[in-house]
Amino acid sequence: MMMNFSGKVAIVTGGTSGIGQAAAIAYAQQGAKVVIAGRRSIEGEETVKTIKDAGKEAFFIQTDVTQESDVKAMVDKTVEVFGRLDIAFNNAGAYGESPSLSEQLDSEYDRIMNVNVRGVWLSMKHEIAQMQSQGNGAIVNTSSILGVVAMPSIPLYTASKYAVEGLTKAAALQYAKSGIRINAVGPGAIATEMFETATGGQDEAKADMAGIHPMGRVGQPSEVANAVLWLSSDDASFTTGETLMVDGGYIAQ
Ligand code: NAP
Repeated sequence: MMMNFSGKVAIVTGGTSGIGQAAAIAYAQQGAKVVIAGRRSIEGEETVKTIKDAGKEAFFIQTDVTQESDVKAMVDKTVEVFGRLDIAFNNAGAYGESPSLSEQLDSEYDRIMNVNVRGVWLSMKHEIAQMQSQGNGAIVNTSSILGVVAMPSIPLYTASKYAVEGLTKAAALQYAKSGIRINAVGPGAIATEMFETATGGQDEAKADMAGIHPMGRVGQPSEVANAVLWLSSDDASFTTGETLMVDGGYIAQ
């Protein structure tokens, strides 16, 4: 894939592993300067090293997206170091299952909603402020197939991704005339740490998950990253408020 992100600056939240890490590396490969945000500094610095070893520019900033002061510092540091902010991939996410909704803990609600909804909202809030001052920008939020259909064992996660859909669409409309495009990506099951958690690392559960996708397999982080890069590129100049599914046909069923 060839896209020109030369001179562009991109933030990736949840860039310490999985889909975010793949996107951060892909942005850098296409010429962007990349800011990797997440809580785990060892993993974050490893991603930075991968990018720098390839002769590209990046830095890590320890960020908890549920904390507004961290999110503000993430954007401020980006502008301080790289001078601007063109692209944001708001990808940090938390997963949680609850076979019995009636027994689910209050703390689980807070954990999932705070990362998946509050984190995306806070990220957009501070990113958009900077992008408005520049007159342009592109944001991609990570939704899910569970942002458009429900799965019975995962109600709060499903609700959080429906909220990401709503935030993405409303923000896209609010800023449609400001030169800021806001879209989402909707992955199916993707082979990451979250997928390991969801399947308990069990081969049978992984095969079951693969089997519910029409392509008969799960996706790779790089396959999601490719879609994210397109949505954040000038090639997607008339696309806003959209969710691009990367799901092996799951939602088409
Ligand atoms: P992952 O490897 O577990 O990545 C999750 C990322 O979120 C990590 O980098 C983690 O970084 C970050 N994160 C979690 N809480 C955070 C917080 N409070 N502040 C900052 N960063 C936080 O799993 P993944 O599959 O790549 O997940 C990425 C996104 O894809 C998530 O939004 C997830 O919901 C979505 N998704 C995944 C799948 C799938 O099957 N894998 C399917 C649909 C959607 P730290 O731990 O370093 O903070």
